[in-house]
Amino acid sequence: MTATTGLSPDEGGTRIVIVGGVAGGMSAAARARRLDEHAEIVVLEQGAYVSFANCGLPYHLSGEIDQREALLLHTPESLAESLNLDVRTGHRVTGIDKFAQKVTIAAGDDTYSLPYDALLLSPGAVAVRPPIEGLDHPAVHTLRTVPDVDALRDRIEELLDSPGHIGPAPTAVVVGAGFIGLEAVEALTTRGLQVHLVELSDHVLPPLDTELAPLLADELAAHGVDLRLGVSAQAVAPVGAVDESGEHSSTGAVTVTLSDGATLIADLVIVNVGVRPASALALDAGLELGPSGAIRVDGDQHTSDPHIWAVGDAVEVTQAITGARMPVPLAGPANRQGRRAADSICGRRTTPQAAVLGTAIVRVFGLTAATTGANQATLRKAGIKHQVMHIHPGDHAGYYPGSEQVHLVASFAPDGTLLGAQGVGRAGVDKRIDILATAIRAGMSADDLAELELAYAPPYGSAKDPVNMLGFVAQNVLDGTMPQWQAQELDEAMATTLLLDVRSRSEFAEGHLDGALNIPHLELRARLDEVRTSAAGRTVCVHCASGVRSYLATRVLLSEGFDALNLSGGWLTLRAVHPNL
Ligand SMILES: Cc1cc2nc3c(=O)[nH]c(=O)nc-3n(C[C@H](O)[C@H](O)[C@H](O)COP(=O)(O)OP(=O)(O)OC[C@H]3O[C@@H](n4cnc5c(N)ncnc54)[C@H](O)[C@@H]3O)c2cc1C
Repeated sequence: MTATTGLSPDEGGTRIVIVGGVAGGMSAAARARRLDEHAEIVVLEQGAYVSFANCGLPYHLSGEIDQREALLLHTPESLAESLNLDVRTGHRVTGIDKFAQKVTIAAGDDTYSLPYDALLLSPGAVAVRPPIEGLDHPAVHTLRTVPDVDALRDRIEELLDSPGHIGPAPTAVVVGAGFIGLEAVEALTTRGLQVHLVELSDHVLPPLDTELAPLLADELAAHGVDLRLGVSAQAVAPVGAVDESGEHSSTGAVTVTLSDGATLIADLVIVNVGVRPASALALDAGLELGPSGAIRVDGDQHTSDPHIWAVGDAVEVTQAITGARMPVPLAGPANRQGRRAADSICGRRTTPQAAVLGTAIVRVFGLTAATTGANQATLRKAGIKHQVMHIHPGDHAGYYPGSEQVHLVASFAPDGTLLGAQGVGRAGVDKRIDILATAIRAGMSADDLAELELAYAPPYGSAKDPVNMLGFVAQNVLDGTMPQWQAQELDEAMATTLLLDVRSRSEFAEGHLDGALNIPHLELRARLDEVRTSAAGRTVCVHCASGVRSYLATRVLLSEGFDALNLSGGWLTLRAVHPNL
């Protein structure tokens, strides 16, 4: 059947048609209704659910969000009642005629077309399908939608209820250690599964700097996760079982063959190796795409067609630090863009889209990892000069019980402008990264961070908050008060300098660099001659556990005429970069 349904725009108010009924699409629909009571707003969603909490799916998998209904924030009925929206689930937009201003829709066996005055595209992203043989096996899942999590929960219940699984506990392979992959690992482990995690990159959470990733790897190992880094999954194949009569039968389990030749056996596999923009519809309609394949939009979400707007995972944004145009698949930008597009559609003043920082956070068991702005790899690739600072302060005053180390890495431009920051720790990481994200957005420098006035009482922070400390350290490095060396320069430091370890004798005994001279920092002033003799004119590369005692030592040495450098982040960072030390 082909027909034109609904009111023509002439008969009622403006008709706004929205493709995609989740983050960006529903944000736009709700805002448009608040701005225009008389518009006809039609939301077309190919799936069975709208306005569902996709970010909550991993926590329903784990059981923390017990009730499935909690994920379903609205239904077409509730949206009709509360916002007078015409929400059509199971309606897939198959084409856009931008000249006639109408979309073609497939709904079950029916096809119809619908004219629009304004069309908003929020089709999201599609999962990247890696080249793994046997990916269609029923044991292989992904985690993107409500039906996905339903299928995973059913399979887990089945495995937990029956002794038919392959090992002592049901076993899973998760392919991809990105944000969602890590959330899936945590959820499966919480449910009692033995989990293997396979990641092609040389560290978990590839957007994280290499110095911080080992902390997550240790946390995964502490929870029994078998981590395989630097390898890819190549093939999935069914495992046959031999029953009592000697017959071969399928167990539902599979083998996953890795690129290093290893074979893992699993009762289920989750593949989450990233997404790409769902821009096929826009491409077919002749809308302009960027080189990344994402839909090109201007500052108020207009595509290259004056009647079509686009938002969310499908569109290109400007990366704040590098200026690169790329998609950034995160819920925050999608929601804000939806609101902006509705403002633009309704003829309101729009707040032009700010460049995107890519601020993101994930919980990995007891740890939190978060990032904002450009990481070191991005800065290097873009050729942006920067200095990197590593600090490991407590999340709150050390004398108040329960203080936990916050591991922070931040990059600053030579003029002191903050370019990016990352953090890992058991407490207080979220607020520091959010402060630093705000600081980057405001164009703040090391001086500004040093002067930030943040809420403090001993249970919450320190009079010198970790964010202030980052500012102080960066000021010291950038103005030459504390020249530093980096863990990545270890080989050169070992070959050409005197390594001075100012930790205590007992710390030194637990592990140290070959050839390092150990002088505990409180003894340094009395033993300067020893340093002078050992250095024999060479630079002195100082380190302690975290960079604090070695900073004091470096200052003493500098004022005594030595050429001295302090190791950024100390032994903690050194061990993360060189795990075999
Ligand atoms: C499991 C999971 C966890 C996540 N966790 C986080 C998190 O913690 N923090 C964070 O910032 N981000 C998170 N994200 C990412 C975030 O959900 C997305 O960035 C955001 O939803 C993008 O919004 P969107 O509107 O572009 O796309 P979506 O919200 O994905 O909505 C797109 C919708 O469009 C529909 N659609 C596509 N094509 C058509 C068509 N032709 N016709 C009709 N309908 C169509 C799709 O079915 C889909 O429902 C997570 C994503 C997932 C999957």
